[in-house]
Amino acid sequence: KGEVSIVIGARSAIFAPLQRLGIIIVDEEHDPSYKQEEKLKYHARDLAVVRAKQVEATLLLGSATPSLESYYNAEKGRFRLLHLPERIEGKHLPRVDVLDIKKESGLFSEKMKTALQKNIEEKKQSLLFLNRRGFASFILCPDCGFTFKCPNCSVTLTYHLRDRSLQCHYCDYRIQAPADCPQCQGHQLRRMGIGTERLEEEIRTLFPGAHVERMDRDTTTRKQSHHHILKRFESGHIDILVGTQMIVKGHDFPKVTFVGVISADTSLHFPDFRSSERTFQLLTQVAGRAGRGESPGEVIVQTYNPDHYSIQRAKEHDFSGFYREEIQFRKDLEYPPFSRLINFRLSGNSEKRTKSAAEEMGKIGQALLKKGYGKGIEILGPSAAPFAKVRGKFRWQMLAKGKSSRFLHQFALDLAARMEEQTKGRGISLDIDVDPVSIL
Ligand SMILES: [Zn+2]
Ligand SMILES: [Zn+2]
Repeated sequence: KGEVSIVIGARSAIFAPLQRLGIIIVDEEHDPSYKQEEKLKYHARDLAVVRAKQVEATLLLGSATPSLESYYNAEKGRFRLLHLPERIEGKHLPRVDVLDIKKESGLFSEKMKTALQKNIEEKKQSLLFLNRRGFASFILCPDCGFTFKCPNCSVTLTYHLRDRSLQCHYCDYRIQAPADCPQCQGHQLRRMGIGTERLEEEIRTLFPGAHVERMDRDTTTRKQSHHHILKRFESGHIDILVGTQMIVKGHDFPKVTFVGVISADTSLHFPDFRSSERTFQLLTQVAGRAGRGESPGEVIVQTYNPDHYSIQRAKEHDFSGFYREEIQFRKDLEYPPFSRLINFRLSGNSEKRTKSAAEEMGKIGQALLKKGYGKGIEILGPSAAPFAKVRGKFRWQMLAKGKSSRFLHQFALDLAARMEEQTKGRGISLDIDVDPVSIL
């Protein structure tokens, strides 16, 4: 009816039926959550580009760490680049120290401990970031090498101390943690790897006088609990807040002067061509939480890969330096934005049938390449997905890479039609993901 003049919302707001659309603003445009992965797949930022074009509205994409695709579009003159060279209110960017932890023992380097101690004494606040929840990422029997795995997913179960449970973070499967090894009855089960729950406990032990709280999916299940933690932090009741990605996004805490990244490596080694970009974005966003108020900020990043360009460029707050290295890598391997990708993912209850359908898909794909698609399309795979089993479904995938999206779409339609025989009535489904944001 034209009664509303401004609509604010998450990604689905892009579908709001506005008659006189003048401007679309997509803030934090690099955020992968703009992509809806379930049912109808769409990327809200990409739809915003289309919608703005259709009605000749202005589109404003905002980010301190733009996606490679958007920055490339700006470089090529398809988007106009507007630069904000100064931090808000002219504040200085925090100093970032990168610490090689190969030679350190324990969770925290001495430098990190000193920085936390100093902040407690000066009544300033600290944030500690670790992108893994739970107490231990897996439990290992040193006698026979047994680890607890999820029966539905190809991942180890995470140990949670609070209820002594073993949980799968992909399908929510959970069991009580047994005292002995189920394979050899050994008594020495060991908790390996760290999560935020253990980080919180270690911090409490190290600084018994400090007020420590944790914010992750486990501490924010109750309604309002998320809000209450943020309130307590804002009012200065918390000295050290430990958390996952949840503490990173867009919060403005003026009293935070120190940010510690426990391990910068968790996202670096994902078998996904965007892992460097994600790591750079995450570190930059985390570091950006420090020094937003009167006092200058300090950041310590602990890592096993101190020389990696994602980490080095994040340390120097150097987006364009990062962009130059990353865009060269994408160009050399012809990954987006130099190509478009479509991920064809098969999932099914039977490992054998899913695998043989995937092999058949590979043959069909190759045959299509011979029939003319080979001029502009390259196929990678099929191979088992990095997470080969999730929620009881076995997963295989094949990537098609090409420069023309129209050509790729035609290829996808042809392939899907020929695959119907392989999937129909066999408990296998084919999922076609155009411009995937994750190929795990
Ligand atoms: Zn699972
Ligand atoms: Zn054992």
